[in-house]
Formats: sequence, C-alpha cells, structure tokens
Amino acid sequence: MSTKRIHNFNAGPAALPLPVLEEIQNSFLDFKGSGMSVTEISHRSKWFDEVINDAVERTKRLLKLDDNYEVLFIQGGASMQFCMIPMNFLTNGNTADYVNTGTWSTKAIKETEIQGKKINVVASSEDKNFSYIPENIDFNSEAAFAHITSNNTIKGTQWASFPDTKGVPIISDMSSDIMCRPLDVDKFGLIYAGAQKNIGPAGVCMVIIRKDMLEMVPDTIPSMLKYTTYSSKNSMYNTPPCFSIYTIHLVMKWLEETIGGLEKMEEINQNKAGILYNMFDSSDFYNGTAEKGSRSLMNVTFRLPNEELEAKFVKEALENEMGGLKGHRSVGGCRASIYNATSIDSINALVDFMKLFESKNG
Ligand SMILES: *Cc1c(COP(=O)(O)O)cnc(C)c1O
Repeated sequence: MSTKRIHNFNAGPAALPLPVLEEIQNSFLDFKGSGMSVTEISHRSKWFDEVINDAVERTKRLLKLDDNYEVLFIQGGASMQFCMIPMNFLTNGNTADYVNTGTWSTKAIKETEIQGKKINVVASSEDKNFSYIPENIDFNSEAAFAHITSNNTIKGTQWASFPDTKGVPIISDMSSDIMCRPLDVDKFGLIYAGAQKNIGPAGVCMVIIRKDMLEMVPDTIPSMLKYTTYSSKNSMYNTPPCFSIYTIHLVMKWLEETIGGLEKMEEINQNKAGILYNMFDSSDFYNGTAEKGSRSLMNVTFRLPNEELEAKFVKEALENEMGGLKGHRSVGGCRASIYNATSIDSINALVDFMKLFESKNG
C-alpha cells in the first residue's frame, strides 16, 4: 500500500522532514535494540539519556552556543513562556521592554499585565495591522530584558536583523523561525520556541538560556515554573515529553547531517520564500500583506482580489493535494507556511497551481 502524502503548508503543528518520520516509523517498535518503543522506555534509562543529550549537543553545535548557554525542554508550549519570563525575571520592581508585532507579542504582554509586572511597550506595529517590523526603537538601558517575537506566524513578518538594545539581553519568541537561519546568539539572554512549528511535534518548548539569566530567578517560584529547576535537572525534574524530545533530536540530526547546517538552511529558505514573493511582485492577483523589508521566510501571507476567490483557492488547492493554505482565523486571507521541512518541490507545486488558478480566475 502506498502512503498518501500531500504538500503540507500548515502553520503548526506543521510538516516534519520525511526522513525523520521514516526513521521514527522504522525504529518505533524496537528502539536501539531495547525491544521497546521510545515511548515505552524510562526517561531515566541510558537510551533516553543519549537522546536528550544528543538533542542538546546538536542544538548547541547548530546555533554555535558556547558553555554560557543551556538548552532546556519545558512543557506548556510557548504560551507557558509568556508567563514564566516575567515571573522569573521581573522581580524586585525591575522592568522590561516589549515590542508588539502581532498576536503572539500581544499575548506575551498580556501575561505580564496579569501578574501586575511593570513593562514598557517600546514599539508597536499595530497602527498598520502589524504588517511591518518597527525600526529605530529606543530601548531602555536599565531594562532587565527586551522581548521581541522574531517571526510573526500570523501576520507573516520577521525581524531581518535584530535590534540594538544597548546591551540589554534580548528575549525572543522564536517559535516559528528557530533554526531557519544562523544566529548571532550573544545578544540573547533567552530564546524560546514551541517545537511544533519548525523543530518537532507539539508538547515541548525549547528554551535556550544564558547562565547569568538563571541568577535572576528567585527561590520563591513553584518548582515547575522556574528555569533553575529545569537547568539543575537536565530538563528531567519530572517526566519530560520524551517523544517530542526524541523527534527534536532527529530533526537536529537532519539539519546537521542532511541539510549541512544553518547557513545552508537559510540559503534554501531564502530561495523558497523568494520564489513566492517574486510571484506576488509580478502579479496583480496575489498581494502579499507584509511590507517588503519585513517579509517572513517562514509564513507567507497573501490576499486574492476577494474573499470568495480566497475560499475557492483554498478549496481547489486541497483538491490538488496542497493543504493548510487558509490564513489564521483572526486575519483571513491565505498563508503558506514554508518551514524548514517544506521542500522546494512543494513550493514549485504551489506556484504552478497559483499560476493556473490566476489564469482561470484572474
Ligand atoms: C504558535 C506560536 C505560539 C504559541 O505556541 P504554543 O506552543 O501553542 O503555546 C507562540 N508564539 C509564536 C510566534 C507562535 O508561532
């Protein structure tokens, strides 16, 4: 029986590299000669130790992290980080800067307010429906951290380069673009990413934290909500999401050994996104919604001339084995999420379909 696989443009959970899925399938019943599935073994076993340590080591190599940084795995998704960050770092009345570039930034800000923490929203692109990334932001040099969302999954914008925060550590939500390109990591005090966009299945958030940030964490926070708990126990204070971490380890292996690192990954991503954006720039039928200098490599958002055509486009795309092209329910329109695992073949298939659709409906 042949397996049906469609071109997957889902925003999250999203496409995973096919070789990773195949490796999971092949080793699912007997993991490394244990006679058990990876979902059946103890997280305290030597097998799982190897998995989690390999995931950490590969992450460090890919992002060129030195020993100042730790890689942690925490449950609760990126949304839990919205709450943990102010809880762990905004104590003793210190403040932080937040940049509001869309739905997820807004939610991060809301979680600081719920806790009564003092923050400054130093820039926002809400005036133009979050269609751009603000520039020339005046950050406060006394802030404990500056929070940004590096890629705005819903609005299709991405920071092309990271801002000068006057030495204040940046905390970035990289849920939808971690590992899409190399990083100048020194600027960052903490990076977090819900796995289900670009690096794995749902159920775990990767957190990269600089060691000096751990010194800010007070003892008075419940164990499961403080970074020091995860740091001191290699992310295994309690049972971690083993399967999700295992899959991340395979995705990191794929990035290193099959793709050849993040420079290479960025080149591929630039090429993939460029094909779609070039098409918008030469068409009156498809209009990109993000401003040119702020366009995302990962989530390509666009409109057709009217909503009827957009609905028809999404429906006919699926009939042609292209899924996930409907825009987020809060903004409408269309969106192609083209994460690391989305192949150039899928992009080419989409462009062919788009040209045909325009010729029939334009
Ligand atoms: C999807 C997403 C989130 C929410 O992630 P959860 O893991 O569902 O909490 C947060 N931030 C960004 C940028 C996202 O794309």
